[in-house]
Amino acid sequence: MAGILVIPIVAKEVERDVIRAIVDYVRQFYSKFGLGVTILPKMSIRRFSAGYNEIRGQFLGRTFLPILGMIRSELRAKAILGITDVDLYEEGLNFIFGLASPYLKAAIISLYRLKPEFYGERNRELLIDRSIKEAMHELGHVFGLDHCPNPKCVMHFSNSIIDTDFKGRDYCDKCIKKLEVTLG
Ligand SMILES: [Zn+2]
Ligand SMILES: [Zn+2]
Repeated sequence: MAGILVIPIVAKEVERDVIRAIVDYVRQFYSKFGLGVTILPKMSIRRFSAGYNEIRGQFLGRTFLPILGMIRSELRAKAILGITDVDLYEEGLNFIFGLASPYLKAAIISLYRLKPEFYGERNRELLIDRSIKEAMHELGHVFGLDHCPNPKCVMHFSNSIIDTDFKGRDYCDKCIKKLEVTLG
């Protein structure tokens, strides 16, 4: 398993069609760098209970990365992406959509605030579109990309869901050039 691992980290449910859509998109992009994508069996959120903050009702994002990094290194993969249904935060931030470590080559994204239901809407396609963008964004960080000033580039920082909806699913030409150097 030399490619990218995707692992659902589940409290209630991480929907299969969302995982499928993320995996299909990531696979078609990263195949040009010779990286395949493998879906691992789902993991219970209980494994990450140390990161739960009872007062906030959220999980501290960074606590996911060392465990994910360990799984990645055991399976000798290039990257691992966790997809969870719980709400994540970081010190000084009310919430985060996701987080990545280029050193551990591990990333986590949360579907919690990507769900249109969170904003009082229902729209399956929108959830899938947002999930693909967040997955591509965090994997970009795993492979060494920083935030990009181009607001249409998927590496543009999302302060809110409005930024996520505005940007595209793909890396801009500058970011692709950097990826080519790293993944060549
Ligand atoms: Zn970012
Ligand atoms: Zn860019």
